[in-house]
Amino acid sequence: MNVLVVNAGSSSLKYQLFDTSNDTVVAKGLCDRIGIDGTLEHKRLADGKVYSAQVKMDNHSQALKYLVEALLDKDHGCVSSMSDIEAIGHRVVHGGAYFSESVLVTEDVLAKLELCRDLAPLHTGAHIMGIQGCLDVMPNTPQVLVFDTAFHQTMPKEAYMYALDYDVYEKYAVRRYGAHGTSHRYVAGEMLKLLDKPVEETKIITCHLGNGSSISAVKGGKVIDTSMGFTPLAGVMMGTRCGDMDPAIVPFLMQKLDLNPDEVNTYMNKKCGFLGISGVSSDCRDIEAAIAQGNERAALSIKMLGYQIRKYIGSYTAAMDGVDAIVFTAGIGENTASVRAEALRNLSYFGIEFDEEVNAATKGRSGVTKLSTENSKVAIYMIPTNEELVIARDTEAIVKAL
Ligand code: ADP
Repeated sequence: MNVLVVNAGSSSLKYQLFDTSNDTVVAKGLCDRIGIDGTLEHKRLADGKVYSAQVKMDNHSQALKYLVEALLDKDHGCVSSMSDIEAIGHRVVHGGAYFSESVLVTEDVLAKLELCRDLAPLHTGAHIMGIQGCLDVMPNTPQVLVFDTAFHQTMPKEAYMYALDYDVYEKYAVRRYGAHGTSHRYVAGEMLKLLDKPVEETKIITCHLGNGSSISAVKGGKVIDTSMGFTPLAGVMMGTRCGDMDPAIVPFLMQKLDLNPDEVNTYMNKKCGFLGISGVSSDCRDIEAAIAQGNERAALSIKMLGYQIRKYIGSYTAAMDGVDAIVFTAGIGENTASVRAEALRNLSYFGIEFDEEVNAATKGRSGVTKLSTENSKVAIYMIPTNEELVIARDTEAIVKAL
């Protein structure tokens, strides 16, 4: 089945056309600067043919019109008619407590998605524009929503509740939701295939480390805890986000830096993490380059992230009463050996032992790589993530069953 995977942002729309019969990407691209002026970058994968254009895109419907034209084009396209695009799968950042699995778009689903707006206002608004754009341009093509939060919906209440007063939870749905669920689900699924154990008995810690990072405890194939919380600000430190800290720091900063609630939120999301500690950059590659030049704050930032991940590994091992495997994925998890090494140090009490040389040589392009030594009681793997493939597969399964 040809499935168009759409990731709609407020002013951009990324896409991949999948052929699910062999899990290949046929074409991919980006509509950017929607509502400003508009650019389209399109690539056909079979022969690497690239097409780019500056076209006015007032909204997501117009962006989708150009995207479909590119897919149909005789020169750089890859399908011969609109009906060859058999289904559309959307990445959706927040499904609140309403969605614990992927769903077909219906009136009822759209009404529930509206209720998630409060939890991720910018993202949800963008997704709704993307869905509406597809309805305008391809009204007869079934659409499926795949949620970043869905995989985490199996968490027990003691893991997702905050010790605020209960009214706040009931009135405003303040609780842990987590994020990156599609990525955690993909790598946990791949790891399960490598473990010689019945799924129900498995205990896996998945570390999605990218610009945003989260860590999950996956017991018996289901998430029982995850590091991101009510928002993606929680958990380990990230490119520009602070991660977990004493909540009393928030009002303290508001007073000292004279910030209002929006400003302190922006500060914690945009000025902290690697950027704030190193003073160099939010990007791990720049941090590594600065360390090579002897920058101590850059070195501290890597040590801090490694230490924080290690503490999550320890606490999730306790939460699951053991661990069979630890998986690293996403930009940093796949490519940055120093972060993996810092995260895996001093875990000998748990029987966790990694191969320094293999780890140092492992990059995302190496493909699935075992990092643990033969003596390690716990399997350690780098597994490149593939969220789009999960979206394409879920979409196919739901549409085929119609
Ligand atoms: P996002 O959360 O935006 O999807 P990514 O998963 O692409 O982020 O991760 C981005 C991070 O991965 C950056 O800090 C970047 O420095 C780091 N990284 C390290 N090496 C590479 C690499 N070879 N390719 C891509 N990202 C890398």
